[in-house]
Amino acid sequence: MTAPLLEARGLVKTFGENRVLRGVDVAVPAGSVTCLIGPSGSGKTTVLRSLNGLEAPESGTVRIGDVELDWASRPDARAVARLRGQSGMVFQAHNLFPHLTVLQNVTSGPVFAQGRPRAEAEQEARALLERVGLAEKADVFPVQLSGGQQQRVGIARALATRPQVVLFDEPTSALDPELVGEVLQVMQSLAAEGWTMVVVTHEMRFARQVADQVLFLDGGVVVEQGPPSEVLVEPREPRTRQFLQRLL
Ligand code: ADP
Repeated sequence: MTAPLLEARGLVKTFGENRVLRGVDVAVPAGSVTCLIGPSGSGKTTVLRSLNGLEAPESGTVRIGDVELDWASRPDARAVARLRGQSGMVFQAHNLFPHLTVLQNVTSGPVFAQGRPRAEAEQEARALLERVGLAEKADVFPVQLSGGQQQRVGIARALATRPQVVLFDEPTSALDPELVGEVLQVMQSLAAEGWTMVVVTHEMRFARQVADQVLFLDGGVVVEQGPPSEVLVEPREPRTRQFLQRLL
């Protein structure tokens, strides 16, 4: 069996007195979609942010492709930046730069962080905007877009650095309900194209339809994991069952 593209082992993270991750393992095969689900405060976002170094766990390792980080060895900023370069992140609120156009938002990573030629980055950015259905919005500012459109720009921006893995942190939870569908649809088509994705979500329908594996977290541990047909339909663990029942 080939090694997973992304592998995290033994992630432990404490905020003050609060141990929020208690030894979390995540293995994500190339081209697959992993959904992290669980109650609020269970540690999902902290896991995701640990995968790209936005949080620094006290211990545990993260490997994406051939870039590996051992958090216990207190990696320096350069090592963390190298790990971060392997993934793209889509945030809950899109975090676009308000003073830059849509196109400039999408090219900022490739041009400024990766030093790629502007013309090449713009050409690729236009293709990505087309991909998320916003080709005609390249020259407008984020404030002129709906929340769903802004989030689709956020997705194009995350893809622009050609990451190996795309991390999504509750990408639809800040949106008005009528705007959720267009974002999930883009994510579903990216999954179909073979992007490797890790998604923190409360959208159980998305998880059921799109995920290859679901990890249920509670209290900073992975309580149960497997294909959605098992974890979401026939959960083994009482805590998973309880969580899913509360959503009904
Ligand atoms: P989830 O994504 O499952 O809702 P989080 O990973 O966001 O959970 O949070 C897990 C726990 O860690 C929560 O108790 C939260 O309050 C705490 N936490 C998260 N980030 C911080 C932080 N920067 N400082 C202190 N506590 C935090």
